[in-house]
Amino acid sequence: SREDVQAFLKKNAFVLFTVGAVVVGIVLGFALRPYKMTYREVKYFSFPGELLMRMLQMLVLPLLISSLITGMAALDSKASGKMGMRAVIYYMTTTFIAVFIGIIIVLIIHPGKGSKDEFGKQQTIEQVSPADAFLDLIRNMFPPNLVQACTQQFKTKYGKRVVHMTVTVNDTLFNSTNDTQGIMEITREEVIPVPGQVNGVNALGLVVFSMCFGLIIGNMKEQGQLLRDFFDSLNEAIMRLVAIIMWYAPIGILFLIAGKIVEMEDLTQMGGQLGMYTITVIIGLMIHAILILPTLYFVITRQNPFIFIAGLLQALVTALGTSSSSATLPVTFKCLEENNRIDKRITRFVLPVGATINMDGTALYEALAAIFIAQVNNMEMNFGQIITISITATAASIGAAGIPQAGLVTMVIVLTSVGLPTDDITLIIAVDWFLDRLRTTTNVLGDSIGAGIVEFLSRHELRSRDVEMGNSVLEE
Ligand code: ASP
Repeated sequence: SREDVQAFLKKNAFVLFTVGAVVVGIVLGFALRPYKMTYREVKYFSFPGELLMRMLQMLVLPLLISSLITGMAALDSKASGKMGMRAVIYYMTTTFIAVFIGIIIVLIIHPGKGSKDEFGKQQTIEQVSPADAFLDLIRNMFPPNLVQACTQQFKTKYGKRVVHMTVTVNDTLFNSTNDTQGIMEITREEVIPVPGQVNGVNALGLVVFSMCFGLIIGNMKEQGQLLRDFFDSLNEAIMRLVAIIMWYAPIGILFLIAGKIVEMEDLTQMGGQLGMYTITVIIGLMIHAILILPTLYFVITRQNPFIFIAGLLQALVTALGTSSSSATLPVTFKCLEENNRIDKRITRFVLPVGATINMDGTALYEALAAIFIAQVNNMEMNFGQIITISITATAASIGAAGIPQAGLVTMVIVLTSVGLPTDDITLIIAVDWFLDRLRTTTNVLGDSIGAGIVEFLSRHELRSRDVEMGNSVLEE
């Protein structure tokens, strides 16, 4: 019908705009590089991108809470228990596969050569024991103050960053590293990205709370109706806001990417070990994203994974542009529900959890990076240490917030667990902004394919629930 055609065009216009935005962003970025903008000018230039980031983040909190609560409330506890089990098994399996790939690839390619000289001077990062990090993870699941959990700066014991920058060239730098607000003129030699500035939400704590809360009000019969209706309607309203922001997204992505390319360090730095390291990470992520996850999807659902992935394109590009899986969450919802027609009871329940704890790309990256650092230090990791790395890399990926470069911070857990110098995180900082984007895209892909798989496996529960409710209330 005509409406179908219109819907089709609208959907593809989006995809076209978004992909176009990436291409134009890259071209524009490289075209402007010779002008050597100051840091302040770059800030001005990428302002439209910053706005997109802020808009998406604005929606994350209400979206996460309302979708999890309605998602849980829409299922009976037995069904949600089963689906939860499937989701957790999927998360664990794919995360472990990712870690495994990371380890194998780095051992085969062996990008680290046992000499740190070529990396230049190092900085210090605060050291913390793995036990502290684990306790912090559990601690964050139970925020003592819910309001604070919504506004908390991303600050864990192992997340402290060195603020000071060493000095050579004159430049303008926006100092966002502590409470100071505004633009300051300072000199620098090396800019250290500061993770955790972007998103002030303890997502893990809110996920735990919302799931429990949703489960409870789902079981409350008439008494719970008011709350169920409230969160249902809140969720719907937020998704409509998302739809509006989606129209702005291509512009934002264009400037996010162009701005980053303008400001990035010279590519000559990429020679030698760092270059090899970058290639190793790219290969690892590719294997996971293009080979393993689609194969898994195919084996389980017997459907074409690449058609599924095509529906996700916008979310993937947003992940690439924002390097934050939590900022991408609203777009992931849209893609899965509208393009891929995944049942809302599944997305609402699986996506927020996935965006918070399921990070295949990050897990792969952390294991790979740790072994690279060992190689650079000329330390051979024995089998036991490699097992330790795989376990802590998994924990670190669960603990990492879905914000830019969070994985770099939680890597301290992995390094300390096998006695590697945490200072050496600075060896890989120069390329992290780039690799972060790639692993975030892998993270979002993993969450989305998970939603597809969990829906497929849960089709019987969903159908019987539909019958029981006299056709689903949640369908459009
Ligand atoms: N930026 C990643 C994400 O949002 C986390 C990471 O740093 O690995 O998924």
